[in-house]
Amino acid sequence: MALAWQEATIAAAAPETPRVRRLSLAVGWERPFRAGQHVDVRLTAPDGYQAQRSYSIASPPTRPGLIDLMVERLDDGEVSGFFADVAAVGDAIELRGPIGTFAWEPGQGGPLLLVGGGSGVVPLLSMLRHRAEAAPEVPALLLYSARTPEAVIARDELVRRGATEPAFRLMLCLTRVAGGRRIDTARIAEVLAHLGRPAHTFVCGSNPFVGAAADLLVDAGVPPRTIRTERFGG
Ligand SMILES: Cc1cc2nc3c(=O)[nH]c(=O)nc-3n(C[C@H](O)[C@H](O)[C@H](O)COP(=O)(O)OP(=O)(O)OC[C@H]3O[C@@H](n4cnc5c(N)ncnc54)[C@H](O)[C@@H]3O)c2cc1C
Repeated sequence: MALAWQEATIAAAAPETPRVRRLSLAVGWERPFRAGQHVDVRLTAPDGYQAQRSYSIASPPTRPGLIDLMVERLDDGEVSGFFADVAAVGDAIELRGPIGTFAWEPGQGGPLLLVGGGSGVVPLLSMLRHRAEAAPEVPALLLYSARTPEAVIARDELVRRGATEPAFRLMLCLTRVAGGRRIDTARIAEVLAHLGRPAHTFVCGSNPFVGAAADLLVDAGVPPRTIRTERFGG
């Protein structure tokens, strides 16, 4: 059954990084969501022109009625530009969801390997936040590729989780700093040496990022049936 469009209101908005804006939306959910799922948003211009895009939910499923989105401003981006620069607290937008099978629930257990590139970390954040609340004993590792330290979404939170949650490990790959590197064979070997064989792997980011990371994981022996991917485009 097709999901109905609903009205949601922007309850809060704040810069998350220089290019990413965090938006809290008050929604009237008819059913709970699973960590990792996304919503579709639809904008309508006064002349009736409509644009629709998907955005992952960053918050955990334990806050009824409120979800956080993180929108990265793309150069010339039609919808991301609106959310990054124009949308204001109190605005109403059309939204439908939750949507998608890219989702983890505490009952699935682990070890849990999360691999994110850029804003692809957003659905993985929801999973990590939910895991910390509901199943902190599940071993988890986030391998997160970002360009610079300033571009790391939820940086303080992730660093704090890495330092205080015994079963969670953060591995950052910064690509545009001196000595920076992309995710490569050696980094994947390091991940698997630390985590062991993951029971569930979630990979999210741009098309090229997801393709490259998934290939590296399969080459390293991670069974393809245990890998889920979400592609943001690009
Ligand atoms: C399931 C799903 C979840 C998503 N979750 C998020 C999220 O949490 N946060 C977020 O910021 N985005 C997310 N996206 C991407 C989002 O839906 C839009 O595609 C993105 O915001 C660009 O829309 P736009 O209208 O601004 O750009 P457009 O006007 O559509 O495109 C502008 C230019 O950017 C290029 N482009 C489009 N998308 C991307 C991309 N992802 N990376 C690089 N270049 C691109 C286009 O080819 C074009 O050249 C998600 C996508 C999917 C499918």
